[in-house]
Amino acid sequence: MGKGLLIVLSGPSGVGKGTVCTELRQRMPELVYSVSATTRQPRLGEENGVNYFFKTREQFVEMINNDQLLEYAEYVGNFYGTPRDFVEETLDSGKDIILEIEVQGALKVKEKFPKGVFVFLLPPSLDELKGRIQGRGTENQATIDHRMSVAAHEIGLMENYDYAVVNDEIDLACKRIQSIIVAEHCKIRKE
Ligand code: 5GP
Repeated sequence: MGKGLLIVLSGPSGVGKGTVCTELRQRMPELVYSVSATTRQPRLGEENGVNYFFKTREQFVEMINNDQLLEYAEYVGNFYGTPRDFVEETLDSGKDIILEIEVQGALKVKEKFPKGVFVFLLPPSLDELKGRIQGRGTENQATIDHRMSVAAHEIGLMENYDYAVVNDEIDLACKRIQSIIVAEHCKIRKE
């Protein structure tokens, strides 16, 4: 059996990665989702083991020391990381897996899985992105400003990715990503 595809959906915070990913998973139930570990506090409605594995800083550092994370990044004061075993087991079983992670982490995954499919989700504009981060209503002004400056820097890193998808409309963004996944499965591998 061939290995599954490792699909990394990344891009600036507020661009709608979470929403696009949730919708994609509904449209493609066979696509396995990698649940990340984080030290951030749960938001209203978030569940441990579903949205994230919520960890203390000590527990997270232990996961790092035990080499249990495929990648991790510190982002706006919190740690986020991808549990390694689950990703490798899923790929070995021939299933596709999607990681919804920020840009620094995605670049680290690329070093380990250069054959992964790296998709950068773009906002229609930076103004639109700011509106989305403010509209979420969960962040204070300092956090919004910080996320915006990180976002501008991250957009500059897009050239490291395989595909750029504009999230102008959720349905269209999902269709574009579904097309990418289909195309990747049809690709003739040269080695
Ligand atoms: P939020 O706090 O809004 O849920 O997530 C903040 C950022 O962390 C988002 O850009 C999200 O994609 C990213 N993120 C979530 N899980 C991971 C992970 O496992 N690794 C990395 N590097 N980033 C993650």
